[in-house]
Amino acid sequence: MNKIHYLGSLLGALTFSLFTQAQSSPNIIVLIGDGMGLTQISAGNYANKNTTNFEDFEIIGLLKTHAYNNLVTDSAASGTAMACGVKTLNGAVGISPRNEKLTSILEHCQAANYSTALLATSSIVHATPASFYANVISRKQYQDIALQLSEHDVDIFIGGGKKHFNERDDRRNLIKEMERYSFVKSIKKYQESTASKIGYFTYPDEPPMKMRGRTPAMEDLFQITLDKLSQREKPFFVMLEGSQIDWGGHANDLDYILTEFQEFNEVVGKALAFAKADGNTIVVVTADHETGGLALTGGNIRSGRVKGGFNTKGHSATMVPVFAFGPGAKKYSGIQENTAVFEHLKSLVQ
Ligand code: MG
Ligand code: ZN
Repeated sequence: MNKIHYLGSLLGALTFSLFTQAQSSPNIIVLIGDGMGLTQISAGNYANKNTTNFEDFEIIGLLKTHAYNNLVTDSAASGTAMACGVKTLNGAVGISPRNEKLTSILEHCQAANYSTALLATSSIVHATPASFYANVISRKQYQDIALQLSEHDVDIFIGGGKKHFNERDDRRNLIKEMERYSFVKSIKKYQESTASKIGYFTYPDEPPMKMRGRTPAMEDLFQITLDKLSQREKPFFVMLEGSQIDWGGHANDLDYILTEFQEFNEVVGKALAFAKADGNTIVVVTADHETGGLALTGGNIRSGRVKGGFNTKGHSATMVPVFAFGPGAKKYSGIQENTAVFEHLKSLVQ
């Protein structure tokens, strides 16, 4: 082999290894709109001059949301299905119907040397985010869920629910016990922090609705999180929940749904912009179920007015759309069980 040939094959091997390395461990962004069925997305579209950032996805599928033993799921069972790949009983978080502790995609990512982050517009111990780090029989065990987060290794978490950590029946102050973490109290301090582990309690209890002035804006918190994680020399996993789209559905309040969706749509735009620029990030956007049995019955595209009617104060069993972009995204096309969210992501981190 002469020198030029040798150099050529060396470069080829180097390029190949860089290429395969980049392909083998993509960043993962999972965005869950709680209670965000197709009608909620449609309403958000018509209220927003007939467009959303969801239009930028080419891969779209449908997910069957039913729980293990119930046609209509709750957010714990569907959160567990998406986070851990197992259909379970309503109310259970990270626990199978046979009472086994499940391993979440966030935990599989940690085992594969990923950085991890969780953000929610509810408390951080609420069922959807909890499905990614906790294992409890009942979603209502908020103090147990908080304890499990305090003993977990999630790098960054942002949400409400501080009281479950420092106003506890067992009188422990988990915030003091979490010595590895730097706790910040404002978005400015969050942005400035160079700590490797950061906790940010946005509210002592459940955050208020966006219409009543919830701050900071989720798209800003999300962007700062992406900036932080992408500076670290390893891939990352982020799950962000637009929690209160669901609460608007339970309240049968279309304005509530629309304002929560609007913020979530901004987050989707940030995620896609990051993924397009990065080239090795998969974005998966979906819902755990639909809430309210919402139907659009009228409105006006020009004025952005939307009229809706509701069928229930609870959840409905309709399939929900899933949108995917990036490496491995194609697996999300077609009709699948919601456990596919876990399965396809896991195939990327193995
Ligand atoms: Mg939720
Ligand atoms: Zn709900």
